[in-house]
Formats: sequence, C-alpha cells, structure tokens
Amino acid sequence: MKYDAIIAGASFAGLAVARVLKGNILLIDRKSEIGDGQTSTCCSYEHFIKKIGCEEAILQVIDVEILHCGSEDIVFHLNYPLATIDYKKFCQLLYKKGNTQFLSAKILGIEGDKVLTDKGNFQSECIVDASGWQAVLASSIRNDFVPKNGKSFGIETTPIYKNKAIEIWANPRIMPKGVLWIFPCGGFSRLGIASYLGKTNIKEGLESFVKNFGLKITEELHGGFFPSKFREPTLGNIFLVGDSAGQCLPLTGEGIRPAIYFGKKCGEIIQQIINKEKTREQGLKDYRDFAMSHKKYYTFLLALQNILTNIPNYLVVRFAKFVNLKPVFKYCEKKYIDLADLN
Ligand SMILES: Cc1cc2nc3c(=O)[nH]c(=O)nc-3n(C[C@H](O)[C@H](O)[C@H](O)COP(=O)(O)OP(=O)(O)OC[C@H]3O[C@@H](n4cnc5c(N)ncnc54)[C@H](O)[C@@H]3O)c2cc1C
Repeated sequence: MKYDAIIAGASFAGLAVARVLKGNILLIDRKSEIGDGQTSTCCSYEHFIKKIGCEEAILQVIDVEILHCGSEDIVFHLNYPLATIDYKKFCQLLYKKGNTQFLSAKILGIEGDKVLTDKGNFQSECIVDASGWQAVLASSIRNDFVPKNGKSFGIETTPIYKNKAIEIWANPRIMPKGVLWIFPCGGFSRLGIASYLGKTNIKEGLESFVKNFGLKITEELHGGFFPSKFREPTLGNIFLVGDSAGQCLPLTGEGIRPAIYFGKKCGEIIQQIINKEKTREQGLKDYRDFAMSHKKYYTFLLALQNILTNIPNYLVVRFAKFVNLKPVFKYCEKKYIDLADLN
C-alpha cells in the first residue's frame, strides 16, 4: 500500500508532524496505544502548550525554579511559567488534531521508499524518522548515525509529594556531572536523576535522593537516553525530527518543545510535497536548511553544558547568580524560549 507520508514514531515529534498533514498518512509506533510508554518528566512552557491547544493535559503550572548548588540555593522567578503535563492525555490531544491512520508495529528499517515493519512493508515518497534517540530508520542505512557519545541518561519516579517550585540540584555528590530534580504535578511529583555522561547505573542514586524526602521509588519508574548532540536533519530520502535528529536542547534537556517546533515545520514542508507544490528533493533541502540554521544555538548550549559540568561548584553558583540578575535573566529567558517557539 502506498501512502502520501509515513511517520515512524508516535510521540512528540511524530505527532507534531502528523498534526499538520492532510492526506493518506500512516503513523507507526511499537506502542499499542497513542500515549503509552512515557519516558520524560513532561515539563514545557505553559504558553507553548496553550498555543498547540493541549492545555487540558496540564497538571501544574510553576513559576519558581530553585537551583541548589553546593550550599547555595538560587531562586529564579520565571516570567514564562512552566507546566507539567499528563503524557498520555497530551499525546492523545495532539493525535486528535491530525488525521492519520495509526499502526502498532515494530519498525525494522528502511529500503528505498519502503518502511519495513514486523507487520509488513509500507511505501511512501515522504518518510519521517521520529523514532527518538535511536533513529531506527536512519540507523538502518548508516549504522554510525547515532554517535556513541553525545547523549545523557535519566530516570525518574512519581511518588505522592506536593511542591510549589521546580527544584534542581546541579552536580550533586550522588550524581557528579549530572542533576537531580523535583517537578511537581499537582498531587504527585516527578523525582529524577540524570547523567550528562550517559551513565545508566544511576538507580541507587535516585533511591538515596528520594530517601531524603522520606519517600521510596514507586512502581512507575521510567526514563531513557536523550541526545545532547545535534545530528543531520535529513539522510537520503528521510526527514528526521525530534530526538532522532538530536534536537533535544543540551544543558536543559528540553526536548518536547523542539520536537514539536521542528515537527510542525517538517509537516508543513511535506504537505507542500503532497500538494505537488515542491519536489521531494526541494522539500528535503528546505527542511535541512531550516533545521541547520539552529545548529549554532545547540553548539552554544552544549559548550555551556560541558563547561558547567567541569568547573567547581562555586563557579557554577557565580554563573547562576549572574544569570539571575533581573535584566540578564529577562534577556536570557526570552532568547532561550525564542530558539523553538511557535508564532
Ligand atoms: C528522564 C527524562 C526526562 C525528560 N524531561 C523532559 C522535560 O521535562 N521536558 C522536555 O521538554 N524534555 C524532557 N526530556 C526529553 C524529551 O523526553 C525528549 O526530547 C522527547 O521525548 C523527544 O520526543 P521524540 O518524539 O523525538 O522521541 P520519543 O519521545 O523518544 O518518541 C519516540 C517514539 O518512537 C517509538 N519507537 C522507537 N523505536 C521504535 C521502533 N523500532 N518501532 C516502532 N516504534 C518505535 C517509541 O515507542 C516512541 O513512541 C526528558 C527525557 C528523559 C529521558
């Protein structure tokens, strides 16, 4: 069967592409239902969530973020509040905005214009790899597509714990070159740990962290890798969006907003190909040019991530206090948001 477009992966990136497409579109994911298998803390900017019409999925809006570093606590008052979301609800809301056919199948790779799955092969001129950090389609034609380094690893648990602020511990004793966090979600919180070096044996660290609050790791323990290195946004005839293209922002690990931002642009370009307003080659070039124009910001944030994880904590504190000066913070916050904001 031939489709106008095939999207591999039905999470933030894939659903963002699907949302803007009209035609005979196939969306494939190994999950049995849209919104299964949360991996992330699922926090994004409140205004952004509203712009895409998914505010029903908001669990808690937060306008204070506290950075704990050494013995210092630096309190940031956000001009743009953040919000934690219910992953399943959010994905289903995004899915409803599109008009695609969903297939639950394991994607095995790509051969020319054909996506190979355990439920058969499907053909299209426009193929999107939105399969997350493993980039299953791109990796099947270039096995070194995913760099060995250049990814962080995090896990989190969701105990009943109420909080008003987002709290982050930078380079704490139990996770050097990493962070610990509390993200409140109404009646519960997401407490997590991440290693910028991509270390995976971090569950013990999470156990001792949650113990500080008289808590235990709950049955709901999720997480995974998230890339910190920007990758090629196209490979052969494949469009790559979200973590598969390394579009998660280094340092902050914010990947939802970029996945949706680049996904929207990718979907708009693919629609032009479907409408025969553009050739596939031109569409691939336009998407590539658009994505690559953001590379400099990723390079900057990765350099900052490397510096802040390699200097003594007192220098991290000085840096954070400088950024927290009112005019500096206002400028940096806006610049950061503008990296991947929707009109
Ligand atoms: C612990 C943790 C906390 C995080 N917290 C935040 C946060 O608070 N805010 C934020 O903005 N970002 C956060 N991130 C990053 C964010 O989760 C990712 O950047 C985001 O999920 C990327 O979206 P995506 O759609 O590109 O990839 P993914 O969300 O990884 O989705 C990939 C999809 O592809 C499917 N798939 C993969 N392989 C196959 C296959 N072979 N066959 C079929 N289907 C397949 C998967 O099932 C999945 O649905 C966090 C990440 C982690 C690990």
